[in-house]
Formats: sequence, C-alpha cells, structure tokens
Amino acid sequence: MTKKNSKLRREALVYHAKPQPGKIKIVPTKKYATQRDLALAYSPGVAEPCLEIAKDVSNVYKYTSKGNLVAVISNGTAVLGLGDIGPEAGKPVMEGKGLLFKIFADIDVFDIELDTKNVETFIETVKTIAPTFGGINLEDIKAPEAFEIERRLKEELDIPVMHDDQHGTAIISAAALLNALEIAGKKIGEVKIVVSGAGAAAVSCTRLYKAFGARGENIAMLDSKGVIRRDREGLSKEKLEFATERKIDTLEEAMEGADVFIGLSIADIVSPEMLLSMAENPIVFAMANPDPEIDYNLAVSTRKDIIMATGRSDHPNQVNNVLGFPFIFRGALDVRATKINEEMKMAAVKALADLAKQTVPEQVNIAYGETKLNFGREYIIPKPFDPRLISCVPPAVARAAMDSGVATASIDDWDKYEEELLH
Ligand code: NAP
Ligand code: MG
Repeated sequence: MTKKNSKLRREALVYHAKPQPGKIKIVPTKKYATQRDLALAYSPGVAEPCLEIAKDVSNVYKYTSKGNLVAVISNGTAVLGLGDIGPEAGKPVMEGKGLLFKIFADIDVFDIELDTKNVETFIETVKTIAPTFGGINLEDIKAPEAFEIERRLKEELDIPVMHDDQHGTAIISAAALLNALEIAGKKIGEVKIVVSGAGAAAVSCTRLYKAFGARGENIAMLDSKGVIRRDREGLSKEKLEFATERKIDTLEEAMEGADVFIGLSIADIVSPEMLLSMAENPIVFAMANPDPEIDYNLAVSTRKDIIMATGRSDHPNQVNNVLGFPFIFRGALDVRATKINEEMKMAAVKALADLAKQTVPEQVNIAYGETKLNFGREYIIPKPFDPRLISCVPPAVARAAMDSGVATASIDDWDKYEEELLH
C-alpha cells in the first residue's frame, strides 16, 4: 500500500468511527419541551392525524415525513467496485448516499440493507416497507438481478423507484455526451459509438443514448469475450438488444474510425494506438472505477483533439452520480410523481447539459481551485458543488413529471418553487 493510500485509509476509518459511529442520525422536527408537546407528538394527540390518514391515505403526505423520505436499499451484492461484500459491509456506502441526499437536496434517507440474494424475497420486502417512503433508491445490486428487481418494483409500486447505478450514470454521461458532441460538431444520430462493457451501467447508458437519437446500427458493444455479435450463442436479453451485425471481434477493430468510446468495463484496455485510430475530435468517456479504461494523462497526450471524461475527481469532466440522484428525487417528490420515467430522466439530462453552458459562478471556481471554468473540452458537465444545480434540475424533472402525466400534485408558481429550493 502506498503512503498516500495508507493515509487515506486511516483518515477514512477515523471519519466513520468518530465522534460517533456512522454518518447520519435522526433529529426531531417538532417541539418536545413540555408535557403538552408530548401529548401532541404522541398519545393522545397523535390519534388525530392517524384518523385523517385512515380516512384518506393521501393525507400521509400532509402529516408524516413520507413525502421527503427516501429508502436507499441494497443487498450488498455489487458494492462500488468491491463486489459482493454483503449487506453489513455495504452499509457505509448506503449511509454515504444518505448524507449526499441530505446535503445536496435536503432529502431524508433511511438506509436499508437486506440479507437476501433472492429476487422474489427482495421485491416482496421492498413492497412491504414501501408505505413508509416517498421514493426508493435501489443501490449496488448485482446484474442481472438488478434489472428484474427494478422492473418489477417500478411496475408494482406507485412511488418513484430508481436503480441509481444504472440510471444515474446514464443521465450524467448522456448530458456530457450531448455537450461533447456539440463541441466536436457531430450529430448523435450519425456518430459511431463503441461501448466497452455490457453490465448494468453500460446497458442503461446505451439505452438512454438511443433515446436521444443514437442509432443501433452505429453501436458496437463489447463484454469480457469481445464484440457482442448477433451470431454469438447464448446472449442474454440485454446483450442481444445491442448485438451488432458487423463481423468484427476485437476492441481494436471496433475503435477504428469510431467517434465515441464509452468505457464501463475495466482498467487499461484501451491503447494509444486505438485512440489514434479513432475519428477526429474523439469523445472518450473512460468510466471504469477506480482506474479508467485508459489513463487520463496518457489519453490527452496521445490526442490533442480528444474530449475526455472519467469517473475520477482528480481530472476534468468527472461523471459523478451525485449530479443526478439528489435533484431527480427532489423534483419527483415535489410533485409526488408515481414514477421516474424516461421523460423525467431526459429532462434531467437536458438541464445538466444546459447548465454547463452557462457562466460559472465565482464560488464554483473557488471550490475547485480553478481560475475560470468555461464550457469547452475540459468542462462539459457541471461540478457537484455548483449551487445552481438545486434550482435548475428539480424544476426540470418536476415539469417533465407533470407534462408526462405521472405527477399527482402540481406546482403552479415556478418562481416561488425555485426560490424555495434555494433555502
Ligand atoms: P457490471 O454489471 O459488473 O459489468 C461489467 C461489464 O464489464 C460486464 O459486462 C463485463 O463483461 C465487462 N467486461 C469485463 N472485462 C471486460 C473487457 N476486458 N472488455 C470489455 N468488457 C469487459 O458492472 P457495472 O456496474 O456495469 O460497472 C462497470 C464499470 O463501470 C465499473 O468499473 C464501475 O466502477 C464503472 N462505473 C462508473 C460509473 C461512473 O463513473 N460514474 C458509474 C457506474 C459504473 P461480461 O458481461 O462478459 O462479464
Ligand atoms: Mg452505487
């Protein structure tokens, strides 16, 4: 272990252990100083909201915390890049997600770790506890189980459900892709795209790029065995969806003349020679964590005309899910959406892409030690500490929910709503 890593390890362990174990706690929101306060908070006063909710269940949003409470639920089977480490070992990640929901969008989270790998048990458990929550964020669940779990819960529950590992990455990288294409002067319907990886992230990213106009015949997807050809035996449903008719097998072959490389696989599989074989102004999103498909410095020194993004915070253009989930759930909760649908995801993509083109406030430059962030090759997506995200993304998502008919509450005064989001 390097000196730098061992310092980070020590700091991270102390951070989680002190002054009290864990990263979030529960705080009362009402007065509790007097006997009278307690008579309202609990028996006998508490019976009144119970009766109101029993009469009309939608009153649960008026008298309880449901409308601002999201469950972050995992079984610990695909935690970060650490794999199947179990529900307890995944808990720090779920608590971390709770912290991010709170600080970026003032959403409260219960993190829930389930001790099951059985799809039916998982689904039943989440359905059973769903009345508590305004939304469900599924997290770090292994593919292909994650696909089925999310599909069924979306279908069977009437609150928003999102598997962030799939859609978060898809939304942020799609925003980055739209902007990168604009800078490269290329059209999404015309570009040749190579997707390395065919897991949860790659599949949902590619689906979203197609929703924005990318064409199936221009896409070559690869898994650990090489290019996913239509004539390969035993392809899963998801892989078949992106299988190519082209008679190619290797990454080298796929990269020749490609405009876009999307990496959601493993470290160091792209060589400088492959980059040199790509079209001009190549767009390279090497998002394998913690180490990208090609090292950032190697890539930018190989091609001066590259537009590059990674999953890392130590390089420009970090594709970071925190740009998405807090704000998407904020918008969905605020109109009591029954789901997070394609329209809402696409609205979030456009809002993020647009925000990157606006003048960056000085406080963002300062937060990132930059002198002047400006829309261009090294700034294609907003930074997580941009204070404009909260007033920009949730309204776009809420509006899309209303326009697409999944909102059960409406916002009339948008200026007032944006103002409220800032406080
Ligand atoms: P996953 O479901 O386990 O999928 C991994 C995929 O990579 C599988 O399809 C696997 O192929 C494929 N693969 C393995 N070796 C390969 C190779 N040599 N060439 C091409 N493909 C190869 O994992 P995931 O959740 O989709 O995540 C994939 C990667 O993306 C991870 O490194 C993760 O950290 C990263 N990621 C980054 C972000 C971000 O930057 N914000 C977000 C999400 C994920 P088989 O199907 O044959 O096994
Ligand atoms: Mg995750």
